[in-house]
Amino acid sequence: MSCFPLCFRNPPRSRFIRGFVHPLCAWRRLLALALAVMVVAGSSAQRPTIFDAPQSSRIVSYELDVSLDSATRTLRGEGRMAWRNPGAVPVDSLQLHLYLNAFKSDQTTFMRERGGTLPGFAEGWGWIDITRLETQAGADLLEQLLFIQPDDDNAADQTVAAVPMPSPVLPGEAVTLTVAFEAKLPRILARTGYEVRPDGQLFVMAAQWFPKFGVYEIPGQRYVPPDAPAGRWNAHQFHANSEFYADFGTYDVTIDVPAGYVVGATGVRVETSESDGRRRERYKAEDVHDFAWTASPAFLEYTDHWRHVNLRLLLQPEHRGQARRHFDAARIAMEGYDRMVGTYPYTTLTLVDGLGASNGMEYPTLILCGTRYGAPRWFRLSELVLIHEFGHQYFYGLLASNEFEEAWLDEGINSYVESKVMDGHYGPGSLVDLPGMPIGSRAAHRLLYAKDAPERGALVTNSWEYASAAEYGKVSYSKSATVLSTLEGYLGWPLMQKILHTYFERWRFRHPTTRDFQAVAEEVSVQDLDWFFAPYVYGTQVLDYAVTDLETSQTEDGWHTTRVRVERLRDGVFPQVLRVAFADGTAQDTVWDGQLPAATFTFTHEIPAVHARIDPDFLVALDINRLNNGRAVTHSRAFGLRHTFKFTLWIQYALHMLASLF
Ligand SMILES: [Zn+2]
Repeated sequence: MSCFPLCFRNPPRSRFIRGFVHPLCAWRRLLALALAVMVVAGSSAQRPTIFDAPQSSRIVSYELDVSLDSATRTLRGEGRMAWRNPGAVPVDSLQLHLYLNAFKSDQTTFMRERGGTLPGFAEGWGWIDITRLETQAGADLLEQLLFIQPDDDNAADQTVAAVPMPSPVLPGEAVTLTVAFEAKLPRILARTGYEVRPDGQLFVMAAQWFPKFGVYEIPGQRYVPPDAPAGRWNAHQFHANSEFYADFGTYDVTIDVPAGYVVGATGVRVETSESDGRRRERYKAEDVHDFAWTASPAFLEYTDHWRHVNLRLLLQPEHRGQARRHFDAARIAMEGYDRMVGTYPYTTLTLVDGLGASNGMEYPTLILCGTRYGAPRWFRLSELVLIHEFGHQYFYGLLASNEFEEAWLDEGINSYVESKVMDGHYGPGSLVDLPGMPIGSRAAHRLLYAKDAPERGALVTNSWEYASAAEYGKVSYSKSATVLSTLEGYLGWPLMQKILHTYFERWRFRHPTTRDFQAVAEEVSVQDLDWFFAPYVYGTQVLDYAVTDLETSQTEDGWHTTRVRVERLRDGVFPQVLRVAFADGTAQDTVWDGQLPAATFTFTHEIPAVHARIDPDFLVALDINRLNNGRAVTHSRAFGLRHTFKFTLWIQYALHMLASLF
């Protein structure tokens, strides 16, 4: 895959990382040892941290007991799950996601879209069977349970189920179901499942492991018309290129694993105990929309804290030297997002160093980071992934947009902020920090967007409707980040930050849409932004401006006339600044509205012009080709300026070449 390896289900193998061996420094080992505060000891329960008052609408609640059979890699779960009707009319049927059924056969929608299984996956199938589903009154709901396929009518897909109720759920009423289920974990796929370490120890990443309510959208919510007679379920099948969408609520989950396993999970650990060769840990979480957990006897545990947040790091033992690196990146992430977006409201964050394709994923208060032995300091992929995944605590975690339908709202806005955090902290070489060849996170996103077929893919697209996984990735991550960088270039960072902050304050613990984000941007900037959102967020216009001619001539009275021709080479329109530099080091800026296909500007000056450039301050990140943005007068004597310009050209070229390696 040629895209940026962030949250993709099938992460590309970077040529940078593969095969790179870097000796561990002794001092770093010492530092890591000093950091290795404690391996989980016995039953030291942490202080429960519960919000004083509900932060969200708490539509759902789950009380589940789950037990891991390590021999069969199977989970057995039971408990209660409740859903409250948020609407004004009765609801006579519920909808449940059964995500693990995406891995049940090669005929599921997920597998078909993915193009089959990996070699060696034969024993790795996964599924979830509900074995008991009853109302509080004891009515059996299993008989009526019906698999539905709202997206593609694929009868082999069992990732969404409709559950007709014996009596409608009245407005405001909560219905509690007694549930039991068995879930066979797949070999790690789409960030969930099990993997066996080379030393034979088991690693489990239990995500999407339980029956999960879909979202019932009421009139006026998201795209349901305010005058609609009733709400509607929004529960999509699990697709190869989709993530998730769920309502906020509370979780009380007890996890039962073999003794000796180290467990990490969403929320706050409130109880631990060990008996009869089993370890039980109970976690509570409030105002989150998902619950994930991990377990392995191999994990090394490290702890740290940042402000009000207790950090746990569960590291594969091979990576013991990289604990400090993880915590450093976590602090940079938390400080960056706190400053740019808003306050992280939870009191825990668990960093998991997963195995294989489990890495690079996020769940509420738990993220999968991933590193590898000897990861070089100059290539900050570990930091990038950790910062990016932490950012998802905001974009999707707290700002719970519909990832199926508007993936750019989480991946794209998050990639944009992640690049701000990366470049802001590490500087222009935030991603690749090599002398003479720095590549920042923002630059990487821009290049990945621009390097081929930039006209493909609108930001607002159902995630399963992209032409390929690569296109989904390029548009949702890199193009989206570049669109927002361009908006920042136009509005300025202070306004952009205010937009992010206002969006966060207004929509956290809710389900914002693209429309809501645009409304906040327009409100904060006090201007209509349709001219920008229509072509670049909803549309597929491509932006490329060029300086195509630069001529100077001397008039009889000794003055110099300079003519600059600028052209709009593609359909994307954007206002441009044209800067003409003169031989005495002065410069003159002119603003062009960029509407016409071409325009010629004439300057008359005592001094001859040496160079002309549009977007001289590199604010229009969406311009797919910056190599044609400037033009020098060929007979200029201003060697310094020309030299600088050529060097800049070379850097641009090198970045293009480098980007093609991803
Ligand atoms: Zn992501």
